[in-house]
Amino acid sequence: METVSSLLDKEWLERYKRISRLNIRSSIYDVTNQCNLRCKGCFFFSSDEHKKAVEENDLNKWEQFIDKEKDRGVNLAILIGGEPTLHLDRVEAFYKRLPTYCATNGIIKVPRDRFPDMMVGISLWGDEEDEKVLRGKNVFAISSKNYEGDPYTYYLYTITPKQVGLTEKIIKKIRNVGLKVHLQLLSNDEDVDGFFWSEDQLKDICSEMDDMLDKYPDTVISSKYYHKIITTGEMMGRSFGWKECPSVTEPLDKRYPQPKRLIHFIRWASDLKTMHRCCTSETRDCSTCKDGAAHMSWVMVNKRAHIKTKKDLQNWIEVYEMFAKLYQFIPW
Ligand code: SF4
Ligand code: SF4
Repeated sequence: METVSSLLDKEWLERYKRISRLNIRSSIYDVTNQCNLRCKGCFFFSSDEHKKAVEENDLNKWEQFIDKEKDRGVNLAILIGGEPTLHLDRVEAFYKRLPTYCATNGIIKVPRDRFPDMMVGISLWGDEEDEKVLRGKNVFAISSKNYEGDPYTYYLYTITPKQVGLTEKIIKKIRNVGLKVHLQLLSNDEDVDGFFWSEDQLKDICSEMDDMLDKYPDTVISSKYYHKIITTGEMMGRSFGWKECPSVTEPLDKRYPQPKRLIHFIRWASDLKTMHRCCTSETRDCSTCKDGAAHMSWVMVNKRAHIKTKKDLQNWIEVYEMFAKLYQFIPW
């Protein structure tokens, strides 16, 4: 039987050991039900998750809740919404207690005197034209001014089918403002015409993402194995979907047989009591799900399946490293 040490040389073994020590336990928090945009295809609003719970406004309650989350073993708080920066006091309550990542559209700048090293991920939905169609304005123009050169920020670039052949232009723009970028694919939750993926487009975008990683390794935080998995939905002969998804809220997870999953993962609504089904849209048909983090986690929780060949295990290490970099558990 193959083992980690029999498959890896000294350098890869060191990389393996570095990530094995991390033991990341994440959960996701809706900081608010409000947003200063309304993007077509936003999983939060399109699934009515903003109506599931009445937002908690008492900051003390947030602080007590976060302390309990810490006691539950959470060591990475992923803040989403709505738009978390509309409530910086809540964001600060997390930041003071836990390693914190804040997802934002970048319109409001996180003040760095208050949050010196908080990881910020800015959502970007394609080029100027796409952003105008899907988000109502060229959000990049605002966010790139706010965060230019910020060492704790990256763009989470949601690639749409219209972007095939055009991603380099955007990646260069991001590089030119001194930021990093991570790639994921649009799931098109609101069935916007012209934004559905075809098999050919998925193949094309897979090799395009590989090219971008080769060409801009200092800007693109990614891995080719991840590209293959998000574009095919296949891993080690298995298909992604409800039966395999690792990012289901643990107390709501009644699946049998139980797949490998994120330990103690919960996605909390902003009343601090309600739980959502998973890390993304509650109403999304899992067979259409292209969620990047869920696919990444799918690889990460299935380590054993990758202790098969040298290449398989290296692929697993690269995906884990990518995740750890995105949340700054290891440097870029
Ligand atoms: S900025 Fe984010 S939360 Fe707000 S509408 Fe767009 S996708 Fe949804
Ligand atoms: S929508 Fe995606 S993330 Fe949510 S349960 Fe389904 S496959 Fe998992």
